[in-house]
Amino acid sequence: MFLEEGEYKIQGLPVLELCEKYGTPLYVYDAEKVLSQVNNLKNAFQGINLKLKYAAKALTNQAILKLIKKSGIGLDVVSIQEARLGLMAGFEPKDIMFTPNCTPFAEIEQAVALGLSVNIDNIPFLERFGQVYGNTYPCCIRINPHVEAGGNDKIKTGHAESKFGISIIQKTEIKTIVDKYDIQINGVHVHTGSDFGDIEVFMQVAALIFEVAKDYSNLDFIDFGSGFKVAYKNGDKTTDIAKLGVEMVKATQDFIQDYGRNVDICFEPGKFIVSDAGTLFAHVNVVKKTPAATFAGINTGLNHLIRPMMYGAYHDIVNVSNTQGSKSAYAVVGYICETDTFGWDMHLNEVSEGDILAIKNAGAYGFSMSSNYNSRYKPAEVLVYNGIAHLIRKRETMEDLLRNQIEIEI
Ligand SMILES: *Cc1c(COP(=O)(O)O)cnc(C)c1O
Repeated sequence: MFLEEGEYKIQGLPVLELCEKYGTPLYVYDAEKVLSQVNNLKNAFQGINLKLKYAAKALTNQAILKLIKKSGIGLDVVSIQEARLGLMAGFEPKDIMFTPNCTPFAEIEQAVALGLSVNIDNIPFLERFGQVYGNTYPCCIRINPHVEAGGNDKIKTGHAESKFGISIIQKTEIKTIVDKYDIQINGVHVHTGSDFGDIEVFMQVAALIFEVAKDYSNLDFIDFGSGFKVAYKNGDKTTDIAKLGVEMVKATQDFIQDYGRNVDICFEPGKFIVSDAGTLFAHVNVVKKTPAATFAGINTGLNHLIRPMMYGAYHDIVNVSNTQGSKSAYAVVGYICETDTFGWDMHLNEVSEGDILAIKNAGAYGFSMSSNYNSRYKPAEVLVYNGIAHLIRKRETMEDLLRNQIEIEI
């Protein structure tokens, strides 16, 4: 979203016109930004066999999945339903990695039946996988590296208490099971989960994973997950992709020399690809001055974008109806009957009833985490692709709220 000739535009389309046409609250995604983020990653890791897999859970609309398919990368899914959405969008089964956690073993069986790449994240399922498939179907193992801040108290990347992955301490146990059933390990995986800005810590994790990888002689890939940090406000520390690229390429080349065979290096970015591409537009229902603050109450809430309330995430907000004049402080709040503050002390151009506010960086974990809380409809979604706005999801209606309810005599 850029300010051009005094108005905010996405690929040249005035955002106020989009809001007028499709109504608010409205998610709008900019396809160019999605594609340019994919390219930024591709460019940063030249010199190794890079395989990117978009983490579908960030945003799963079919149009987005198709766009990402077209960019030539794969998919990382955490549920069998996400896998099916990916298949419907045209991804090849082999380009979809199934990375479940605490899902039933039956979902792993379904993933195998669909021909997906399978990632195992606990010892009992690894054993079971061996019993059921022996050496007939390969799998990847997800490792929890137990990397604390390592003397650097700013960043925590992975920790012993995490429910994800098989503890690196159980490395020998994994190997014993793998040998017992002759399981074909095709990859080693790690995803530390948190936004990381510290490349040293990431490289520390990478070194541990390369060590684990040496236990298996037929790997096709090593997957370093994601956690790439994006900027939510000016001056935010982000993951320096270029620097990470240089270090990863070097570490990978060293590993390959030792290992004696080439492997693909995978990443599974979600947020990095779609966060900045998405904006949530909302209408100002009321401006309310109290002794504590001036509230701008908008027609959306934690039902549509839960990140501020769930993670304390910061999202920049701008008044797209008024791009002039001096700014003052507003508390931007939602319409849900529960505290749902999008931002305290947001410096906005004077806000009036009826204005449209834009909540930025809303592409990832925005719509995908939305709910019908307070019996509100989920918003519509629009994708701007090649300079044209496409409605890619209708706003819900009363019928959607009642869809699965079953009437009984009371
Ligand atoms: C959520 C998730 C990701 C994506 O994380 P981002 O921070 O959105 O990039 C990647 N891999 C796995 C296994 C995940 O669960």
